[in-house]
Amino acid sequence: MSSTSPHEPVVITREQHRISLDSIDRDALYVLKKLNSAGFSSYLVGGGVRDLFLGKTPKDFDIGTDARPGQIRRIFSNSRTIGRRFRLVQVFFKYGKIVEVSTLRSLSEHDLDGPEAVLAPNNTYGTVSEDAQRRDISINALFYEINEQTIIDHVGGFADLQDGIIRIIGTPKKRINRDPVRMMRVIRHAARNQFKIEENSWQAMCDNSHKLALCPPSRLRDETLKDIYCGSAAAWFELAVDSGVFFALFGIYRDGAADASWRPRLTAIFRTIDRLNNSAVAAGLHRQPDFLLLSFILLPWADAALQIFDPSLKGGRLFHLATAIREAIDQSVGPALGLTRSCRQEITALLTHLPTLISQRQKDSWPKWLRRKSYFNKCRLLYLCHLEATQGQTVPDQMFLVGGPGAPSQPTESRTAQKPPRRKGRPALVDDHPGGIFGFKR
Ligand code: ATP
Ligand code: MG
Repeated sequence: MSSTSPHEPVVITREQHRISLDSIDRDALYVLKKLNSAGFSSYLVGGGVRDLFLGKTPKDFDIGTDARPGQIRRIFSNSRTIGRRFRLVQVFFKYGKIVEVSTLRSLSEHDLDGPEAVLAPNNTYGTVSEDAQRRDISINALFYEINEQTIIDHVGGFADLQDGIIRIIGTPKKRINRDPVRMMRVIRHAARNQFKIEENSWQAMCDNSHKLALCPPSRLRDETLKDIYCGSAAAWFELAVDSGVFFALFGIYRDGAADASWRPRLTAIFRTIDRLNNSAVAAGLHRQPDFLLLSFILLPWADAALQIFDPSLKGGRLFHLATAIREAIDQSVGPALGLTRSCRQEITALLTHLPTLISQRQKDSWPKWLRRKSYFNKCRLLYLCHLEATQGQTVPDQMFLVGGPGAPSQPTESRTAQKPPRRKGRPALVDDHPGGIFGFKR
């Protein structure tokens, strides 16, 4: 089958799948039941069904219903309506938890034409089948209903889930043209689940990857960061390069495509990023700041294009290096990903100072003058990342902590600042300080 087309729904009975009511979040179940008791149909939809089937814990539980937003609001007093094009209802629970409920619809906001569609007209509401067709990939278009505990499949998503296939719903080229970010979503789910991308979907992505440039940079940045931090960034990177998506985001590497030396280096870098993110998640640590990982990703480019590791780069030449880095970032990755001014500044500083840090490294420490530099702590982290990627050996996690071996006991920047409150039960982390030791707050 080359693309999904509307066909008779397949109903997967309770005995044929492994999702049980127990595995559904209590609050989501409460919402599903309450909608049913009010006489509406309700379904668990999207990523929640996919992840439960795969035995993973879903990040969020989305609910689809035939109730209209106003009706949903009346059922749940602790709720509010959000969204301009399509209004959906957020139902609030304890500890800031939110369950999102949306009315089944026939079109995605991205499939609508023009600004006249800003307010959702009634005819955009739809059936289960239509709601399935407007979704991105088949494994994200399954509906689970709690009464019979069946999965309803209008797009062949259940078979794809079992076979490990990512397939764009409908005609891939058309769906990508409507919303190029769908290409990123395909790669994300293929990388996270080690699934294969169906041939026609893949071909359409390879042919249209440049169209990502038409999307708002802030959306591309958010989507890219999601993938960099997802723990499967190495697999993401390979698919992103092969499809061309990577060059739409990090165009700075496009010119060097003929010289493939950056590719194995970036593979090692993304593996290191995964190692760090997975061990940070396992240890309940904060994630590394965006600019650190972005600098890390730009390192092979800076080395190849600007020879940042050239030992003769000192004094005034360092200033010129910083200017060249900044100009390149301002022209390429900065606007492509909508990076803030401070993020661009941080990346420039890290890439400029890293070689100094490396060249001044003494046996097990750095000279005192260097440790006093305002950039030292941030740059030390980039150095550790670089070390791990280049030597292919895991750098112990404690090295990444403030006060870790070779780090100053008190970061220079926070010497005059008020001592931050320490959280009980775990060590001070690099971004535990108010505003982070990077003067950066997530
Ligand atoms: P995650 O685990 O990252 O939350 P997800 O698939 O649940 O993955 P969401 O961003 O939460 O991703 O989106 C919820 C659902 O909305 C998706 O499963 C998919 O069905 C649909 N969806 C999201 N983005 C698009 C899009 N650009 N086009 C069509 N459908 C989309
Ligand atoms: Mg989700």
